[in-house]
Amino acid sequence: IINGLKAGNAPAELADAIEEKVRYKPGKDKAILLRDFEPGKALGNLKNYSPDEVISMIKDSGLSGRGGAFFPTGMKWEFARKAKGSIKYIVCNADEGEPGTFKDRVLLHLLPGLLIEGMIVAGYAVGATEGIIYLRAEYTWLLPKLNAALEEYRQSGYLGQSIAGLGKYRFDIRVQLGAGAYICGEETALLDSLEGKRGEPRLKTVFPTDKGFLRKPTVINNVETFCAAARILELGVEAFKRMGTPKSTGTKLLSIAGDCKKPGLYEIEWGMQLRELLELCGAENPTYIQMSGPSGELLSVKEKDRAISLEDIRCGGSVMIFDAQRDLFTILQNYSRFFTYESCGLCTPCRAGNPQLLHMIERFIKGKAAPGDVEKALQWSAIVKHNSRCGLGQTSPNSLEQAIQKFPELFHEKLVRDDKYNREFSLEKAT
Ligand code: NAD
Ligand code: SF4
Repeated sequence: IINGLKAGNAPAELADAIEEKVRYKPGKDKAILLRDFEPGKALGNLKNYSPDEVISMIKDSGLSGRGGAFFPTGMKWEFARKAKGSIKYIVCNADEGEPGTFKDRVLLHLLPGLLIEGMIVAGYAVGATEGIIYLRAEYTWLLPKLNAALEEYRQSGYLGQSIAGLGKYRFDIRVQLGAGAYICGEETALLDSLEGKRGEPRLKTVFPTDKGFLRKPTVINNVETFCAAARILELGVEAFKRMGTPKSTGTKLLSIAGDCKKPGLYEIEWGMQLRELLELCGAENPTYIQMSGPSGELLSVKEKDRAISLEDIRCGGSVMIFDAQRDLFTILQNYSRFFTYESCGLCTPCRAGNPQLLHMIERFIKGKAAPGDVEKALQWSAIVKHNSRCGLGQTSPNSLEQAIQKFPELFHEKLVRDDKYNREFSLEKAT
């Protein structure tokens, strides 16, 4: 656990806090990413395996994408390896922008070498010669640190025209900065941005593993995914697989923020019950728990017995805790403002639908919601979800829909009174 890191801390304070406060709970043996990284060991081991063997190891480990979609990493690498073409790229998505998420920031700051080693492992497995770290503009303060780490690996012979122990294989990595748009965390918008274009999601007629950066086969993974891959090479597949659940092996980094005594970055073993997590971070009176950010799953405290795993709560990395003092409608308003602002505007359901949803939430806040508004909000949610081009639009109504489903009485209380409607209103009808 790295305690005391609140989202929004100033970078200098954050840097001090990270270096001083690394602790492990419930035990060091339950950590993979934050535990005793030995620089160079994964790369030293790499020479014992062919690229195909590395891919088999990653497949065997069960590692899945840690950006939130959990696509099997070994399979992604295999697609890119088999794709036609001699020029291939490895891209690290370091554009984490989901509100409440700061796990990658800590890895980039604390363990840049681990990320670099993970990217070299991926490059070797896929046959790529160039890696690019797409760093979100808000993390510009990390650029000197990342460049210094890259230079250190070059000087040690692990990056550049040849990679120590790997014969003629060459691979180098550079960092490219984003410009502050949330949508550029979506992988195809990220690729456009890398190419110097306006970042807008592409139509997914083909995956980046076939046509990615500059239309060449490209592996795009999240920071945490590359870090986990490096640890698999360093510690072995079994050490990774020993932890977690059958469908979610290993561990997960969670950025915890909100109404709890110990906000911060936690590394947990997959399968941990929500109850245990809330106790660990000192959440005394949790009422609403937002998993995976506003686009993820809104939980009520009644769901404490559920497990954080791919079989149950698929948490991408952010946990925001709200106690009974918080107003659910204000929370939803904040989420909705965020999506309205960050929509790239390319498709109408998202560009026009999100402001419409915001307007509806504000009607509830102002006491102007009338009978039928809950149903209308659900209809608009469905339009936005099912007709938007990319993940932003497709997930933006999630928390509103779940709030209506899990806390219908709050919506009902806010409606302008209408006795006939009140008699007819039911949860079944609303959902
Ligand atoms: P997706 O399910 O479409 O794809 C996941 C990954 O698998 C992508 O890299 C995609 O290219 C690859 N993939 C899927 N099928 C493939 C195939 N047949 N062949 C080759 N590659 C294939 O999800 P997405 O739209 O890329 O990502 C959405 C996720 O991002 C959401 O689950 C959300 O939780 C997460 N997210 C994270 C943040 C953050 O800050 N970390 C912010 C917003 C959203
Ligand atoms: Fe842009 Fe929203 Fe459409 Fe995604 S869903 S392409 S963010 S307008």
